[in-house]
Amino acid sequence: MKIICVGRNYAEHAKELNNALPTEPVLFMKPDSALLRKGEPFFYPNFSENIHYETEIVFRIKKIGRHIDAKFAHKYFAEYTIGIDFTARDLQDKQKSKGLPWEISKAFDQSAVVGDFLPLTGVDVHNISFHLVKNGEIVQKGNTANMIFPIEKVIEYSSQFFTLKIGDLFFTGTPEGVGKISIGDRLEGFAGDVKVFDVVVK
Ligand code: MG
Repeated sequence: MKIICVGRNYAEHAKELNNALPTEPVLFMKPDSALLRKGEPFFYPNFSENIHYETEIVFRIKKIGRHIDAKFAHKYFAEYTIGIDFTARDLQDKQKSKGLPWEISKAFDQSAVVGDFLPLTGVDVHNISFHLVKNGEIVQKGNTANMIFPIEKVIEYSSQFFTLKIGDLFFTGTPEGVGKISIGDRLEGFAGDVKVFDVVVK
């Protein structure tokens, strides 16, 4: 199982990090060892002093495929949830400044929070609202309507390079409002009004 992530998929977030708007999806991956197991706390790693939450819609692939046309992409997923793409921003800035790959800042252990999956039946994929609550306050809000590349386009683009397999996950990018976490924080993710994860930082 692999986790394919999209960077800079919301214009306002690209702006807040001073990144140009992409003309094609920006992809990177996390290994399966990056998954935070349900019920486990997130242990703040000692290699970073600036871990950020990035709240994102996550889709799960249900069918194997490659070279998938965007118009058939909806046949490849039927469930979604909210996740966090934890990012060691200090390491990422360092890697970016040297033109080096991001992996150590993005793909480390526990860097992928994945909530409980919800069926897409009756849900408009292009109008899903989601938010993150940190210590009881809403800190980040998004809606899939604001994605630069919708999930169908992301699947079309990714599947030219990578065969998609059952259980693969897509993290589809974060809206604006990313921020720092600290030891002791509680992070709760919501799809609409449904709480899908609850993680404590230790
Ligand atoms: Mg992200």
